[in-house]
Amino acid sequence: MTTINSVLGFIETENMGFTLSHEHLATSAAGIWKTFPELIDRVGIMEQAKATLKEAYDEGLRSIIDVSTIDLGRDVEMMKEVSEATGVQIVAATGNHLAVPRPFADLAPEVIADLYVREIEVGIEGTGVKAGIIKVASDAGGITTEQEIVLRAAGQASVRTNTPISTHTWSPDRVGEEQVRILKEEGVDMNRVYIGHSNDDTDMSYLLGLLDQGVWLGLDRFPGGRRAGTPLWEQRTELTKQLIDAGRSDRIMLSHDHSVPKARHGADVQEARFKYNPDGYNFITRNVLPRLNELGVSDETINQIMVQNPRRFFEGK
Ligand SMILES: [Zn+2]
Repeated sequence: MTTINSVLGFIETENMGFTLSHEHLATSAAGIWKTFPELIDRVGIMEQAKATLKEAYDEGLRSIIDVSTIDLGRDVEMMKEVSEATGVQIVAATGNHLAVPRPFADLAPEVIADLYVREIEVGIEGTGVKAGIIKVASDAGGITTEQEIVLRAAGQASVRTNTPISTHTWSPDRVGEEQVRILKEEGVDMNRVYIGHSNDDTDMSYLLGLLDQGVWLGLDRFPGGRRAGTPLWEQRTELTKQLIDAGRSDRIMLSHDHSVPKARHGADVQEARFKYNPDGYNFITRNVLPRLNELGVSDETINQIMVQNPRRFFEGK
């Protein structure tokens, strides 16, 4: 039996169930909730998050990994309340997204790793909520100096606590390869590493090369198409099928990278977001999985990808 940290306390991995591997309830920036509360309708966002996750629970969703970090305005009190209200288990993250806090640039990775370990073992912002995953991010053009410091810190925190790492990448620039190289230098077990956003491009040689390094792949930007030139959901589904056909259904996870629209967004933004993904956290359940079935993928393989793989990733198996 393996237990992991959820926002409501320990959960057993065997109870994770149908899991979306990379999501957000809501994203903003560090300090916004407290400094400029008038900018964001926190109550409205929470109502929306509860309604949409309740709906997803009714369609089978049991767990989400919320990879929001301090620089994405992580709000663990919100996660707690939404998890309690909906029954969807939420795993919170430590680590950093792209906007590395300025003071970190002058710190050694060891010092930052201590902060991440504290959020995993003691808790986040005095709430007692413990992180269950470590998030790191690099984007187009590759890893910046500041991002490399936190990437090494994440690696060290993973080695010290056996906590898995989830990355944000830009696959058209093959950024996952750089992340793997640095995490290997820090002695990280590649079985503990999830290279995210790996379906923003359809280059199979890049993806199979990453899998040969022993990592997991997050095909976690369904439906996609929001960033110009990236694959649409049908192509992303085809890519998933290709990886299954290549015998790698044991190393992939699917997700949306969804967050509920901010209630103070204008109607035009709300509409554009809805057009892009009308099903929110249910897009995969309603569109991608039935399409995979049509393409000949069995329910057993779908269960492997949506239920068994997240569990095995967190168990380190
Ligand atoms: Zn994300």
